[in-house]
Amino acid sequence: MYDVVVVGAGPAGSMTAKTAAEKGLEVLLLERELEVGVPDKCGEFLPSLQEMRRLAPDVSDLEGLFDPPDFCIVNRTKYVKFVFPNEVEIAVPFQGLVIERKLFDKHLANEAARAGADVAPLTRVVDLLEGGRGVKAKNTDGAIDIPAKTVACADGAYSLIARRAGLPVSRDPLDYGIGYQYEMVNVDHDPYCVDMYLGEDIAPGAYAWIIPKGDDVANVGTGVRPPYMKE
Ligand SMILES: Cc1cc2nc3c(=O)[nH]c(=O)nc-3n(C[C@H](O)[C@H](O)[C@H](O)COP(=O)(O)OP(=O)(O)OC[C@H]3O[C@@H](n4cnc5c(N)ncnc54)[C@H](O)[C@@H]3O)c2cc1C
Repeated sequence: MYDVVVVGAGPAGSMTAKTAAEKGLEVLLLERELEVGVPDKCGEFLPSLQEMRRLAPDVSDLEGLFDPPDFCIVNRTKYVKFVFPNEVEIAVPFQGLVIERKLFDKHLANEAARAGADVAPLTRVVDLLEGGRGVKAKNTDGAIDIPAKTVACADGAYSLIARRAGLPVSRDPLDYGIGYQYEMVNVDHDPYCVDMYLGEDIAPGAYAWIIPKGDDVANVGTGVRPPYMKE
């Protein structure tokens, strides 16, 4: 029997699996998708370690969290520009990293595996076993029960497993933001500058963004929060 079954191989799940395995526990990391990190639902923008040290000087272990390996980094930005509805623009110096999430997430899952965790893709958890002593899952062989002493829910914002465990997860769509994003090419944009657009016409309750991934490639998206949307 595993000590810990971790549901979801996003950053939270892989870091949990890695940390538990490093402590000597028997760990199984389950991911419903065939490929860890795909599809990615992320603008892929991170503050650099240097900015995080400035923003959170009292946090001691930032190195482990904000230093993605070079092969995951596709761009280094220097500014964030806020564009307000009255067309005022304010550019703030800010060292950022644009990462390739599919590489980053795979890297973290690999780190978990290197620490000793078993990693099982194409395995969708559908429920908890009675008393939370493991999970019911489906993989290419069909339905399986996986007993475990502990289940860690890392299956994302709408966590089915957290709901099954009776943890407070809102089902009200008004509590969530909605985001749309495309990775676009032929984007005529300063590759050093991340743009954030504010205003109720373009992104009610949230913001729209252009996050440059290279010379003419960028993640272009918008987020909205339903309570702020007009009829
Ligand atoms: C549009 C958008 C843009 C964003 N942009 C940024 C950004 O620029 N910078 C930033 O830092 N953050 C950004 N975020 C937030 C960031 O993506 C999340 O904070 C981060 O992915 C959360 O990591 P996680 O491991 O908790 O969950 P996730 O990354 O959601 O991982 C959950 C994993 O669990 C798996 N899973 C789900 N259900 C099951 C199941 N039943 N069985 C097995 N596996 C399951 C999923 O396939 C997934 O791999 C953005 C989010 C969105 C939606």
